[in-house]
Amino acid sequence: TIVKPYANEPFTNFALEENVKAMQAAIAKVKGELGQDYPLYIGAEKVMTEAKITSINPGNVDEVIGRVSKADQALAEKAMNTALETFESWKKVSARERAEYLFKAAALMRARKHEFSALMILESGKNYVEADVDTAEAIDFIEFYAREMIRLSQINETQPLVKIPGENNQISYIPLGVGVVIPPWNFPLAICVGMTVSAVVSGNTVLLKPASTTPVIAHKFVALMEEVGLPAGVINFIPGSGAEVGDYLTTHPKTRFISFTGSKEIGLRINKLAADVAPGQIWIKRVIAEMGGKDGIVVDETADLDAAAAAIVASAFGFQGQKCSAGSRAIIVESVYDEVVEKVVAYTNKLQSGLPEENFAAGPVIDKASYDRVLDYIEIGKSEGTLLAGGGKAEGNGYYIQPTVFGDVSGKARLMQEEIFGPVLAIAKAKDWKQAIAMYNDTEFGLTGSYFSSDEDRIAEALETVHCGNLYINRKCTGALVGVHPFGGFNMSGTDSKAGGYDYLMLLTQAKLTSRKV
Ligand code: NAP
Repeated sequence: TIVKPYANEPFTNFALEENVKAMQAAIAKVKGELGQDYPLYIGAEKVMTEAKITSINPGNVDEVIGRVSKADQALAEKAMNTALETFESWKKVSARERAEYLFKAAALMRARKHEFSALMILESGKNYVEADVDTAEAIDFIEFYAREMIRLSQINETQPLVKIPGENNQISYIPLGVGVVIPPWNFPLAICVGMTVSAVVSGNTVLLKPASTTPVIAHKFVALMEEVGLPAGVINFIPGSGAEVGDYLTTHPKTRFISFTGSKEIGLRINKLAADVAPGQIWIKRVIAEMGGKDGIVVDETADLDAAAAAIVASAFGFQGQKCSAGSRAIIVESVYDEVVEKVVAYTNKLQSGLPEENFAAGPVIDKASYDRVLDYIEIGKSEGTLLAGGGKAEGNGYYIQPTVFGDVSGKARLMQEEIFGPVLAIAKAKDWKQAIAMYNDTEFGLTGSYFSSDEDRIAEALETVHCGNLYINRKCTGALVGVHPFGGFNMSGTDSKAGGYDYLMLLTQAKLTSRKV
């Protein structure tokens, strides 16, 4: 069969009543299936454990989404042995055949799109648009990496080696071995899927340890891969405590690579633990770590101020600010500061909090720990700046926090330096555009940023000097598309990888050169 050229999955238009109805029907269907028990997947075996992770709806904390079996170290060891054994056969399956499983999975996920989104609405607190975008991104990752593996396997044609007489030379990209895949909860489908399928289409086998707050949607993906006939043991599903199972596998001598997305703290821990060589280990573990951000939007006096204010609010408060790309800082040039801030506050005050399944603009944060942390930061903010909007809890039977804006925050304030990962925006004033860019760059992170201006010379300079992995001009700093905006940041934002980009599978493979005398 011919593979069609890659194209992004379209988003659903929820301005159309029929699409709202379709999503409501999917939510009703998923609600009818809540509260079940889910097993681990270790090879062909489904293991139901006594200990369970209980996943709840953060927007209605009395609603149990499901109870997911929980691996301990002994089960993690068993899964490791299964993955090692399966690797011996999976690595021999052709790239094309591996990709075919992904094409089937993408088609099936597309057919059940709203069902996947509905489960995320209930398990992670996303509204319709945010959940729909997450599912679309998951489909994109599957389609994109499948094509990428096919391309990489034909590398002799696309990137020919220099020819010399008397030899036939070839390069091929072969898998690494068993990988540990550790995704976060904030794109509970897209990132989990992207990290997993990129590894397996490259010929590796994996141990997937999902985030403990969103294991049911991760299970739904694993069940889908089983349904398309992916051989047992290629993806082993082992939910469990990051501290217990995570550390055990990070230090395991047979772990070949760790693909992690999450906080800076855990990423650095994994990087450090993985550097030690365990007895019997014969490689340097590869660590791919995509970590946090303190992303921001810079606005100068030549910018379209209304567009800038709308972008600031969308970037700061989409999914309650719980995106690694969230624009939690805005730096505005003095002469237009008051005007932009006024617009930002007006847009923020329009965001209504309420149940995700009823599609409110502002929903809950993910769990009690996040809730407490964000409320603590709001208290810190009250001493570091001027409270302009929100400022505390919001109504509801869940972890609701008002979209909160602080003005007059100094560049060095904790609110401007630390990743809060919640609906809190800090705004700072700069004397001019150059100082504004310098303030933007004054961070240990470097994931996403936006510069709003209409001055071509300044834009040219900003393109060079704003130091982040994903830099946008005159648009919001969230919403990267697979294949269009390869995603990943600098400095403490991670290991400089680019998810959804043309070099990503290089991170999951190793190049073998063969040279034959003729
Ligand atoms: P997190 O607390 O670091 O958790 C991420 C994952 O690591 C979870 O599956 C977690 O499991 C696991 N984990 C915890 N301790 C571990 C250990 N000692 N060893 C191995 N794994 C361990 O992050 P999060 O709260 O889920 O996600 C939010 C963070 O992710 C933010 O900082 C955000 O910026 C970042 N993020 C970055 C990107 C990017 O592309 N750069 C994308 C999305 C998110 P448990 O759930 O069981 O604790």
